[in-house]
Order: sequence, then C-alpha cells, then structure tokens
Amino acid sequence: MEFVKQFPKPMIVMEELEGLREKIDYSRELNRRLHNLPYRKLQKFIEYKALINGVEVVYVDPNNSSRTCHRCGHINEPSNSREFRCSICGAEYNRDVNAAANIAKKALTMIAENTYTSKY
Ligand SMILES: [Zn+2]
Repeated sequence: MEFVKQFPKPMIVMEELEGLREKIDYSRELNRRLHNLPYRKLQKFIEYKALINGVEVVYVDPNNSSRTCHRCGHINEPSNSREFRCSICGAEYNRDVNAAANIAKKALTMIAENTYTSKY
C-alpha cells in the first residue's frame, strides 16, 4: 500500500473474474471457479487493505486483456508466451505489462463514461 499511496488520487484496478456473478449450472464452470478461488481471495485481501487505507478499488471486464495490443487495439490470437507480440503493429511487451496497460485503459474509459462503481 505504500507504493499505492505515493500517488495523489490512487485507484486499484482489478479484473472481475468471469462467471462469478452467474449461477453455477454445470461442472466445468464449477471447476473453473474453484480454480479461481485463490485469486478471488487475493482480491478480497487487496480490497480490505485498500479500504483501511482509503484507496479506491475498481473492477473491469476481463475480456481480452491479455490478447489486445494496448498500442493499436488489435485483438491477437491467444498465446501462452510470456512475451506479447502484436501481429498487426509488431509491438512487443511483457505479457503482464501489456495486460496491465489494457486494464488501466478500461478503467480510464469507465471513469470517462462514468460507468464504474468503486468499492471502498
Ligand atoms: Zn498492435
């Protein structure tokens, strides 16, 4: 939280886990959710730490965060590589850095359109 609080109006943006809001109706979905549980636990912990530090938390749609080129917006084929490479503009980034840039962009869009809800 020290890192976060060095900024004037900090906000933590995380991906809303897919399918968490819908009903569980088949076993594959259930398996995937169970698999995602530790991540959800981590998010809850971050939410808690943010709350006691007065830092805003916002969730964004996780769709295509890893596949989208944050430079040109092209949605690339899925890849397991740690390096992201855009097939259109040739941009190369660490996969997580590219995804983080997309997540931040989604949050900025939601803020600009006033379509976000934050959790304190
Ligand atoms: Zn690109």
